[in-house]
Amino acid sequence: MNADPRPLIFFGTTSLDLCISVERLPRPGQLVLGTFAHHAGGKGANQAVAAASLGVTTLFCTRLSADSAGEFLRRSLEAKGVIVHSIETAESEKNDAAVVAVDASGSNFIIMDRGANGNIPIESLHLALLRIPQGAIVVIEMGLPLPAIEYLFSQKQQCGFELVFNPAPVKEGLSRRAWQAVDIVTANETEASQLTGIGVHDVETAAWAGKVLLEMGPRAVVITLGSKGAYYCDAREAFMTPAFPVVAIDTTGAGDAFNGGLAASIAQGLPIQKAMVCASAVAAHFLTCRGAQVAMPTAAAVNDFLNLVHPSIF
Ligand code: ADP
Repeated sequence: MNADPRPLIFFGTTSLDLCISVERLPRPGQLVLGTFAHHAGGKGANQAVAAASLGVTTLFCTRLSADSAGEFLRRSLEAKGVIVHSIETAESEKNDAAVVAVDASGSNFIIMDRGANGNIPIESLHLALLRIPQGAIVVIEMGLPLPAIEYLFSQKQQCGFELVFNPAPVKEGLSRRAWQAVDIVTANETEASQLTGIGVHDVETAAWAGKVLLEMGPRAVVITLGSKGAYYCDAREAFMTPAFPVVAIDTTGAGDAFNGGLAASIAQGLPIQKAMVCASAVAAHFLTCRGAQVAMPTAAAVNDFLNLVHPSIF
C-alpha cells in the first residue's frame, strides 16, 4: 500500500445488533426457537472497519452511549484498528440497536431503534471537523440525521475534504446544495432506484440512473449491482467493474465492504479504475466469510486473492 496515504474519516452510525438465527422466520404471534448472538454493527461502523482492516489509518466519528453497550461497541471497533471519536452523550441516551432475525435461506427482518445517532448536536460536529486535515477523504452514510448531513456537507469547501456519500438508507429531503457538494455518491440498486425513480437492475438501467444522479449534483457516481459488479460514471467516462466470481456465504454487508474498500483505495492514491477493482475484491473476499465486521479482509488477504484471480491488475 501507498506510504503516504490521505487521511480517511468516516461519519456514521454504530449499532448493537441483536441477532437470532432461525430455521424459519415467525409469522405474527408465532413463537419459534433460535440461536442468539450480539455483534457490533451499523453502516458507518462496518465501512470504517473495512478500511481499517486493510491497514489504512481510519478515524470514525460516531455517537456511542455511555453505558455497557457503547463500551462494547467502542472496544469492538478499536480491536479492529479503528480510531474512534465518539460524540458525547447524556447518561440517559441509549445506543442505536437493531433486532435482526435471519432464516436458513438468508431472508431476514430487521427492526432498528435509532438511539444516540438519531440526535447529533451540530456543535459537536463542528468540533469533530476541527480534527480533519485538508485533503482528507470523508465518507458519510445516510443513517445520520439530515440536519447533521446538511451541516457536514456545507463545511466541505472550507475544510477542504473530498466527500464520498453513501445514501443508505435513502431519506427524502436532502437539498440540491448538499448534493452539489458530493464528490462521489455510492448507491446500491435499491438506493439508486429510490433516488432516481428508475428500476436499476443491470448495466443499462445503471447508466440511465447514473446520468440522473449526476444531474442531481455529484461529480461522480458508483452504482453497485450485486453479483453483476459495479458501475462508475462521471462527466468524462463511464465503465463497469465486474464482480469476482465467488460462492457467497452471506451477502449482508457486501456494500459496506465495497464502500470501505473503495474509500481506503482512494486514500491510498489509487486511480478510480483500480480503486473499483480493489473495492470489488474486498467485497468478494468478504462474501466468502461469515459475519459482518469480523469478515472484513486484511490487505494481505485481498492481495493474495487478487494475485490468484487477477494477477495483471497492479
Ligand atoms: P449492498 O450490500 O449494499 O446491497 P451490493 O449487493 O450491490 O451492495 O454489493 C456490493 C458489491 O459487492 C458489488 O458491486 C460486488 O462487487 C460485490 N458483490 C455483491 N454480491 C456479490 C456476489 N454474489 N458475488 C461477487 N461479488 C458480489
